[in-house]
Amino acid sequence: MHGNDSSKLTVAVIGAGVVGLSTALWLQREGCDVTLIDPTPPLPGVSFRNAASFGNASTIAPSGIFPSASPGILGDVPGMLLRRDGPLTLYWRDLLDLAPWLTAFLSASLRSRQDGIISALGSLMRVLEEGNGPLMDEAGDVRFVKGKGSIHLYRTEQEAARAKKSNERRRDEGVEARYLSRADIAGMEPNLAPGYVGGTIFPGCYIIDSPEAYCRALAANIIKRGGRFVQAKAGTIETQTDGIRVEAGAESVVAQRLVVCAGAWSRAISRQIGDRLNLNTERGYHVAFEQSQGLINHPLMYVSDAFFLTPLLHQIRAAGTVDLGGLDKKPNASRLNVLEEKARRMVPALGAREDTWMGFRPSTPDSMPFLGPSRKDPRIIYACGHGHLGLTLGGITGKLVSEILTGKKTSVDISPFSPSRALFRLS
Ligand SMILES: Cc1cc2nc3c(=O)[nH]c(=O)nc-3n(C[C@H](O)[C@H](O)[C@H](O)COP(=O)(O)OP(=O)(O)OC[C@H]3O[C@@H](n4cnc5c(N)ncnc54)[C@H](O)[C@@H]3O)c2cc1C
Repeated sequence: MHGNDSSKLTVAVIGAGVVGLSTALWLQREGCDVTLIDPTPPLPGVSFRNAASFGNASTIAPSGIFPSASPGILGDVPGMLLRRDGPLTLYWRDLLDLAPWLTAFLSASLRSRQDGIISALGSLMRVLEEGNGPLMDEAGDVRFVKGKGSIHLYRTEQEAARAKKSNERRRDEGVEARYLSRADIAGMEPNLAPGYVGGTIFPGCYIIDSPEAYCRALAANIIKRGGRFVQAKAGTIETQTDGIRVEAGAESVVAQRLVVCAGAWSRAISRQIGDRLNLNTERGYHVAFEQSQGLINHPLMYVSDAFFLTPLLHQIRAAGTVDLGGLDKKPNASRLNVLEEKARRMVPALGAREDTWMGFRPSTPDSMPFLGPSRKDPRIIYACGHGHLGLTLGGITGKLVSEILTGKKTSVDISPFSPSRALFRLS
């Protein structure tokens, strides 16, 4: 690949989900010549349903600074797995393949590891809008519902007490969190079932309506700025002295730099490069209900159920749950039924089920993205593994990649996100 202007740095980006698109746009803003490679990019006439960025819970969530691997999780997992309506599914025959990820996940749950992870994620959240803002300003008709916040709900005093403690830690990281009483919740969400003893509102959280439309707007802007899409799967990757060659269908793309943003599929790509990222997928689902304006006013999450019910313009979407099912299995229909049952338990007046979807979260064991150079070749940058937070972190990730590749000082210290970091640690 050579741009029209030979003085421009040429960059190939593998993957056109929200992370790859945001990265491409930031690189263009910094004067790079960008080619995106993806078999199903969000271009007119192409289905984008395969990407996690298509059907997520649509929230920008600066509150999400706690890793999934929390202290005590090991004790909670058996209960989660045994309950038909638990928030987690595991397939026993996959255990061997999952072992490296699960052991690193348990190691991340050690109390001694928590503070470092929370501070590192907090450092990204502090500068979130520096990354998202400029991209969203150019997103045309896409609706952003800002200023209302999202709400976490608790059913027991124990859950509420635990949350109050977590919120103190959030405030240390600059995340605004206000406690809500039972009466506050009833006033703000009159259609919510009774039984919630309290909640927290996070005023800095907001909705992107819809993530698919947002990705399509980003893709259109990339083309407007002179970027190119190659609609093919990235195959063989060769590092050469004059650049990096990526086989993409009938084309051979050569660029001076390569960024790997292929979400959950980045693990296979990293193996080909020789890096072997410890990345897995947490499959997640959504069930969409017909829109009923005003039925709920905020994204709502009952913390123990681990899904959001989000009011979008054209639908109300329940999105979440964790299914460690890999990249090849069919969707698990019972997960969808459980999600629907739980959403209806939360808001009994929900309308008809309209649509369902399954997506592949790209998840690292410690809930921190991989962001930084390959061990094999520093001209290759990884920007993947955003787990539950890729929509939130897409913009700042793109900005950081553009800073790395143009030799600028990065907006935050990226060393905690190094793709080469030790994931299995005992302290
Ligand atoms: C149910 C659910 C709810 C969620 N809710 C939220 C939320 O509210 N807020 C939030 O911030 N995050 C949320 N997330 C997480 C978020 O959706 C993901 O972290 C994010 O979409 C990941 O983006 P990505 O660009 O890394 O990957 P993806 O969006 O999956 O994109 C990867 C792209 O790579 C392409 N690709 C794959 N292999 C190749 C190859 N060999 N060559 C070229 N291209 C390839 C794919 O076609 C795809 O387009 C949720 C996720 C799920 C599943």
